Amino acid sequence: MSLYWNEKTRNLQPYVPGEQPKDKKLIKLNTNENPYPPSPKAIEAIKKAAAESLRLYPDPACTELRETAAARYGLDAAQVFAGNGSDEILAFAFAAFFDTSHDAEPILFPDITYSFYPVYAALWGIPCKTIPLGEDFSIDTAPYLEKSGGVIIANPNAPTAIALSVEELKRIAEAAGRNRRVLIADEAYIAFAGGQGLGGSFASMLPFINEFPNLLVIRTLSKDASLAGLRTGFAFGNAELIEGLCRIRDSFNSYTLDRLALAGAAAAIKDASYYDEINSRIIATRGRVASGLETLGFRVLPSQANFLFASPPAIGGKEFFTALRERGILVRHFNKERIADFLRISIGTDDEMDVFLEACKEIIK
Ligand code: PMP
Repeated sequence: MSLYWNEKTRNLQPYVPGEQPKDKKLIKLNTNENPYPPSPKAIEAIKKAAAESLRLYPDPACTELRETAAARYGLDAAQVFAGNGSDEILAFAFAAFFDTSHDAEPILFPDITYSFYPVYAALWGIPCKTIPLGEDFSIDTAPYLEKSGGVIIANPNAPTAIALSVEELKRIAEAAGRNRRVLIADEAYIAFAGGQGLGGSFASMLPFINEFPNLLVIRTLSKDASLAGLRTGFAFGNAELIEGLCRIRDSFNSYTLDRLALAGAAAAIKDASYYDEINSRIIATRGRVASGLETLGFRVLPSQANFLFASPPAIGGKEFFTALRERGILVRHFNKERIADFLRISIGTDDEMDVFLEACKEIIK
């Protein structure tokens, strides 16, 4: 606490990111990074961009990158926003679309979800209300159909890894639209989701942005494109929503993406076949590790993401976290009501996950 902080700074409760340990020998399964390297084509493009032209500012509108993303997804470039990681885009979206007056309807999100959402709401002074997840940690959509200031849903949700169906998200988008409010679908992990569940199909809301002018879909290259270090994310939506994000960005920092990120991100987006291969490997490993943990007596939530949310048998979450760390394995533990007995385990390489499963066996016996 400093004498020089203003009241707003004094009252902030900032987000705490997962640890980036100095010890390179640790098996790092704590921040949902991709265990495989980025596309060689992306690295080549970044090297090429590390040149004399760094003297010049980058394109503030990120035109080429947006055109590349638009072409990949069959959209118009005016429906695409690029930002410095999806965290930044989320912050802009909260500022652009959610009201701050005291008597404003609160925005809605689950009680257990990405812990940056309440931080952004507090930063901008947006009233918010959390809706408890069910006993099985699934999202009951009914409360999100009520009048509100807007809705944000991480799909798949984090840290639970459970996905909501397209059909249910469309119902929320429709209800929010009637109310002239925005639904933000945060699809950081959508590349690892797919197929049918009890509630319908698990897939992206991207194909529906033309149907719902109040739908903003946010994506990142940090997970499925293995570029967490490059800091690039996207928002997709109606051109007017995108213009709203640009208004916030250009009132804050016009050059949020540097020349290296612009070049690397565009090359990554074009290399879909490379990423399909590494990400299907992650999905296969996820299935194998989930079964391994279940055999050991863990409760494992059904995952559609590149991580598992699991509760060990007979030992507390914090204790298990510490025992894993003593064996050189770093996972994420949230000291939070309802989930304190769970661990979030990012899916690593097969070799890393074998070491992890062996360590789990040893701790339990
Ligand atoms: N949304 C969710 C649900 C996440 O888990 C994360 C990663 N912490 C992000 C957004 C932010 O990702 P990035 O800023 O790396 O794009």
